[in-house]
Amino acid sequence: MVKAVVGANWGDEGKGKITDMLAQQADIIVRFQGGANAGHTIVNNYGKFALHTLPSGVFYSHTTNVVGNGVALDIPLLFKEIKSITDRNVPAPQIRVSDRAQMVMPYHILLDQYEEERLGGKSFGSTKSGIAPFYSDKYAKIGFQVSELFEEEVLKEKVLRVCEQKNVMLEHMYHKPLIDPGELLGTLHSYREMVAPYVCDVSAYLDKALKEGKTVLLEGQLGTLKDTDHGIYPMVTSSSTLAAYGAIGAGIPPYEIKEVITVCKAYSSAVGAGAFVSEIFGEEADELRRRGGDGGEFGATTGRPRRMGWFDCVASKYGCRLQGATDVAFTVLDVLGYLDEIPVCIGYEIQGEVTRDFPVTCKLEKAKPVLTRLPGWKCEIRGIRKYEELPENCRRYVEFIEGQIGYPITMVSNGPGREDIIYRQSPLKK
Ligand code: GDP
Repeated sequence: MVKAVVGANWGDEGKGKITDMLAQQADIIVRFQGGANAGHTIVNNYGKFALHTLPSGVFYSHTTNVVGNGVALDIPLLFKEIKSITDRNVPAPQIRVSDRAQMVMPYHILLDQYEEERLGGKSFGSTKSGIAPFYSDKYAKIGFQVSELFEEEVLKEKVLRVCEQKNVMLEHMYHKPLIDPGELLGTLHSYREMVAPYVCDVSAYLDKALKEGKTVLLEGQLGTLKDTDHGIYPMVTSSSTLAAYGAIGAGIPPYEIKEVITVCKAYSSAVGAGAFVSEIFGEEADELRRRGGDGGEFGATTGRPRRMGWFDCVASKYGCRLQGATDVAFTVLDVLGYLDEIPVCIGYEIQGEVTRDFPVTCKLEKAKPVLTRLPGWKCEIRGIRKYEELPENCRRYVEFIEGQIGYPITMVSNGPGREDIIYRQSPLKK
């Protein structure tokens, strides 16, 4: 049985917390796309952690944690991250790395930085982790698969060929130091040594596990609105953030994905550039940012302050639809307890017309939010475990949003910890 945990919004919805929670009942957790450019924050009995590359199941000794073929694998970062958790008394996790995963090369990180510098004010707001150059090379067929580390002659020839091309760019476009092929080969040898014990034919491994009746969680990074095809292109990430891609990025048949748990945050936040219709500014935004998440809405990778906004029903309905949500996990609801009234964006006005359908980027840039206001509940809801025990206005907020997005909210998260969860019977659940 395969379940996907994915984001409905711009990322940072709390997928790490939901994955960590569901991992209790799972055998295998797989990262299937993206790289170290976004982080999941997890709070559990070992403390508070920001994971970038490791799947969020690493805190249990009964789970196997898999880096799938769809991931942009930064080998030194992966090992730094393993060390950072074992240094804090987490037992050494069971890790498998796909032999078909491709590696983020040191020059991808440099080229990402150089390109953002070159673009100046018109930059994409990249985290400079090398993700866009990595995926460009993967699809241009000049990427390096983990399996190639173990074929010395193939590796040597390819290093020379790729360096020739990259050095032309470095010299003439960016005026930066060139790559020394010998040095790069040495770096790849060190990667080989680090990764060798973990390399695995992941699709065969998962096929066997599924036949044995194991439970697999696919853990997505970022959310629908950052998907390369269906997001706010070009202010998107360079891989697909959709559950459907989980089949490809892990190497399993699409029909194995039985549940798509779509994580949706009770208000909006986004990092990087791009249209953000329900965005708020000034003191109103500062207050939500300060109170948001667990200790403020600041990027887990970069520490950048996140852009803040009210809940956006148009974007979230679209976000859930593209994921194919079977369940919505509605997170960080506890944060909104300070507001007298809570604005919610229920439509977009574009050139005088109101729509509830999420438009393409050039139209999105012209959209203005249509807001409604719901009464707040003005109290702390952390610690509550039963839906009926939530204040009436809080339940009204959840039910209003469920009605707007049209997908069943079956989980409400009211705190960052594993146990901060309320299961709910939804009338929309089939
Ligand atoms: P992810 O990338 O989707 O995993 O999200 P992040 O980890 O970047 O952001 C979610 C933040 O919200 C983290 O700091 C979590 O600890 C925190 N968080 C998750 N769920 C809840 C919740 O229900 N309430 C509160 N207050 N914080 C939460």
